[in-house]
This record gives sequence, C-alpha cells and structure tokens, in this order.
Amino acid sequence: MYCRKCGTRNEESSIHCIQCGERLEAAAAPQPPVATRIPNYLVQSILATIFCCLPLGIVAIIYAAQVNGKLEAGDIPAALSASKNAKMFCWIAFGLGLAGTLIYLSFIILGMVIGNQ
Ligand SMILES: [Zn+2]
Repeated sequence: MYCRKCGTRNEESSIHCIQCGERLEAAAAPQPPVATRIPNYLVQSILATIFCCLPLGIVAIIYAAQVNGKLEAGDIPAALSASKNAKMFCWIAFGLGLAGTLIYLSFIILGMVIGNQ
C-alpha cells in the first residue's frame, strides 16, 4: 500500500510508513459512510402498523421506504428528513394504539363492573 501522507510504497503488512512514520492502518479501515448510519425505521413502522394504528403505520412505512431510496440517490438531507418523519409517525401510531387499547380495556372493565351489579 502507499502512504497517504508522503506517497511512499510500503509493505502490505506495514502499520507505519517506512519513510515518514504515518500510520497506515487508518487508511485501510476507513470510517463507515454516512449512508449506513441513517436508520430507516422500517421494522418499527411495520410493527406500528400491525399492533397500533394502521393508517399512521402505513404513512410511517412510506417514509421508511423512502430513506434507502434517497440514500442510493445520494440525497443525505432528504434521507435524514424521511428517517425523522418515519420515526415521528411510528411514535404517533404507537401513542394512538396505546390510547385505543386503554380505552378498549376501560370499556371491558366498565362492562364487567356493570354486569356484576
Ligand atoms: Zn509516509
């Protein structure tokens, strides 16, 4: 491999450049690209659709599906915004699903209380 600082050719197994001492390992293991660090919330969106709130879950899935497409197009800000929207709709669906379940349960409990009188 070649040193990225001075351009000297080094052995493939070298850790430091023989010419200038620059660390060669860092060039061989670069940071993962930004693209892989944007979550798409697709799994959460599907779970929200099944267990919480179907219409809002579908909106979340639409945004979640857009994240990877925007990333492939290289549009990082749009991918981040779609990721944020997917997350937001997941939480709204989860909140409504939870509220709906609590209301449903309170009706069952109310029915049992009235039925026992
Ligand atoms: Zn060097």
